Amino acid sequence: MEYPIKGSCQCGQVTYRLAEVPKMVLACHCTECQKLSTSPFSITAIVATNAIEFSGELKEWSRSAESGNKNCAKFCPGCGNRVYHFNPDDPSTVKLKLKPVKMTDASIFEPTVHVWVSEKLSWYRIPEGVKVFDKQP
Ligand SMILES: [Zn+2]
Ligand SMILES: [Zn+2]
Repeated sequence: MEYPIKGSCQCGQVTYRLAEVPKMVLACHCTECQKLSTSPFSITAIVATNAIEFSGELKEWSRSAESGNKNCAKFCPGCGNRVYHFNPDDPSTVKLKLKPVKMTDASIFEPTVHVWVSEKLSWYRIPEGVKVFDKQP
Protein backbone atom coordinates (compact mmCIF):
# COMPACT_ATOMS: atom_id res chain seq x y z
CA MET A 1 0.00 0.00 0.00
CA GLU A 2 1.42 3.37 -1.00
CA TYR A 3 1.18 6.48 1.10
CA PRO A 4 -0.14 9.12 1.22
CA ILE A 5 -3.68 7.78 0.88
CA LYS A 6 -6.21 10.38 -0.25
CA GLY A 7 -9.81 10.65 0.85
CA SER A 8 -12.72 13.00 0.23
CA CYS A 9 -16.29 13.59 1.39
CA GLN A 10 -19.29 12.75 -0.76
CA CYS A 11 -19.51 16.24 -2.33
CA GLY A 12 -15.72 16.55 -2.69
CA GLN A 13 -15.40 19.83 -0.79
CA VAL A 14 -13.29 18.27 1.99
CA THR A 15 -10.20 16.25 1.13
CA TYR A 16 -7.35 14.77 3.12
CA ARG A 17 -3.99 13.09 2.77
CA LEU A 18 -3.00 10.38 5.21
CA ALA A 19 0.75 9.79 5.37
CA GLU A 20 0.95 6.52 7.32
CA VAL A 21 -0.97 3.46 8.44
CA PRO A 22 -3.55 4.11 11.23
CA LYS A 23 -2.48 3.23 14.79
CA MET A 24 -5.69 1.29 15.36
CA VAL A 25 -9.03 0.71 13.62
CA LEU A 26 -12.05 0.02 15.76
CA ALA A 27 -15.76 -0.54 15.34
CA CYS A 28 -18.03 1.11 17.92
CA HIS A 29 -21.49 -0.31 18.50
CA CYS A 30 -22.78 2.38 20.89
CA THR A 31 -26.15 3.96 20.17
CA GLU A 32 -24.50 7.33 19.37
CA CYS A 33 -22.45 5.65 16.64
CA GLN A 34 -25.53 3.85 15.35
CA LYS A 35 -27.14 7.26 14.86
CA LEU A 36 -24.02 8.81 13.40
CA SER A 37 -23.36 6.08 10.88
CA THR A 38 -27.03 5.22 10.16
CA SER A 39 -25.83 1.62 10.42
CA PRO A 40 -25.17 -0.93 13.21
CA PHE A 41 -21.74 0.52 14.10
CA SER A 42 -19.27 3.18 13.09
CA ILE A 43 -15.64 2.64 12.16
CA THR A 44 -12.89 4.86 13.52
CA ALA A 45 -9.27 4.92 12.42
CA ILE A 46 -7.02 6.43 15.05
CA VAL A 47 -4.24 8.33 13.31
CA ALA A 48 -1.42 10.57 14.48
CA THR A 49 -2.43 14.22 14.06
CA ASN A 50 0.85 15.03 12.33
CA ALA A 51 0.29 12.23 9.79
CA ILE A 52 -2.90 13.69 8.31
CA GLU A 53 -3.70 16.91 6.50
CA PHE A 54 -7.23 18.13 5.82
CA SER A 55 -8.35 20.78 3.38
CA GLY A 56 -11.73 22.38 2.77
CA GLU A 57 -14.29 23.98 5.06
CA LEU A 58 -15.29 22.00 8.16
CA LYS A 59 -18.04 22.64 10.70
CA GLU A 60 -17.84 21.51 14.31
CA TRP A 61 -20.20 19.86 16.77
CA SER A 62 -19.40 18.38 20.17
CA ARG A 63 -20.85 16.28 22.93
CA SER A 64 -19.65 14.81 26.22
CA ALA A 65 -18.62 11.16 26.20
CA GLU A 66 -19.54 8.84 29.08
CA SER A 67 -15.90 9.06 30.25
CA GLY A 68 -16.33 12.82 30.73
CA ASN A 69 -14.06 13.55 27.77
CA LYS A 70 -15.23 16.04 25.22
CA ASN A 71 -15.89 14.46 21.85
CA CYS A 72 -15.60 17.06 19.11
CA ALA A 73 -16.73 16.24 15.59
CA LYS A 74 -15.80 17.88 12.31
CA PHE A 75 -18.09 17.50 9.33
CA CYS A 76 -18.56 18.83 5.82
CA PRO A 77 -21.18 21.63 5.77
CA GLY A 78 -22.00 20.78 2.15
CA CYS A 79 -22.87 17.09 2.26
CA GLY A 80 -22.88 16.42 6.01
CA ASN A 81 -20.24 13.69 5.88
CA ARG A 82 -18.59 13.21 9.25
CA VAL A 83 -14.85 13.68 8.66
CA TYR A 84 -13.12 13.21 12.01
CA HIS A 85 -13.49 13.37 15.77
CA PHE A 86 -10.97 14.64 18.31
CA ASN A 87 -10.54 15.18 22.01
CA PRO A 88 -9.38 18.79 22.63
CA ASP A 89 -7.53 17.56 25.74
CA ASP A 90 -5.49 15.08 23.66
CA PRO A 91 -4.44 16.71 20.37
CA SER A 92 -1.90 13.98 19.50
CA THR A 93 -4.39 11.84 17.56
CA VAL A 94 -7.51 12.31 15.47
CA LYS A 95 -10.28 9.77 15.06
CA LEU A 96 -10.77 9.58 11.34
CA LYS A 97 -14.38 8.73 10.40
CA LEU A 98 -14.28 9.30 6.66
CA LYS A 99 -12.56 6.33 5.08
CA PRO A 100 -10.77 6.48 1.77
CA VAL A 101 -12.38 4.43 -0.98
CA LYS A 102 -10.96 2.43 -3.90
CA MET A 103 -7.86 1.44 -1.96
CA THR A 104 -5.59 -1.25 -3.30
CA ASP A 105 -5.57 -2.78 0.18
CA ALA A 106 -8.90 -2.20 1.98
CA SER A 107 -7.80 -4.34 4.94
CA ILE A 108 -5.99 -1.28 6.34
CA PHE A 109 -9.37 -0.04 7.57
CA GLU A 110 -10.67 -3.40 8.78
CA PRO A 111 -11.57 -3.07 12.49
CA THR A 112 -9.54 -5.33 14.79
CA VAL A 113 -11.28 -4.07 17.94
CA HIS A 114 -15.04 -3.91 18.61
CA VAL A 115 -16.20 -1.67 21.49
CA TRP A 116 -19.55 -1.02 23.18
CA VAL A 117 -20.80 -4.48 22.19
CA SER A 118 -23.20 -4.16 25.17
CA GLU A 119 -25.27 -1.92 22.86
CA LYS A 120 -24.74 -4.01 19.73
CA LEU A 121 -27.74 -4.83 17.55
CA SER A 122 -28.67 -8.46 18.12
CA TRP A 123 -28.59 -9.47 14.45
CA TYR A 124 -25.02 -8.34 13.82
CA ARG A 125 -22.40 -11.06 14.42
CA ILE A 126 -18.92 -10.00 15.53
CA PRO A 127 -16.26 -11.59 13.31
CA GLU A 128 -13.92 -14.11 14.88
CA GLY A 129 -10.45 -13.13 16.00
CA VAL A 130 -11.14 -9.51 16.97
CA LYS A 131 -10.85 -7.94 20.42
CA VAL A 132 -14.21 -7.26 22.07
CA PHE A 133 -15.10 -4.82 24.85
CA ASP A 134 -18.47 -4.32 26.57
CA LYS A 135 -17.90 -0.59 26.75
CA GLN A 136 -15.03 1.78 26.01
CA PRO A 137 -11.79 0.03 27.14
ZN1 LIG B 1 -18.91 17.28 1.44
ZN1 LIG C 1 -19.64 4.83 19.65
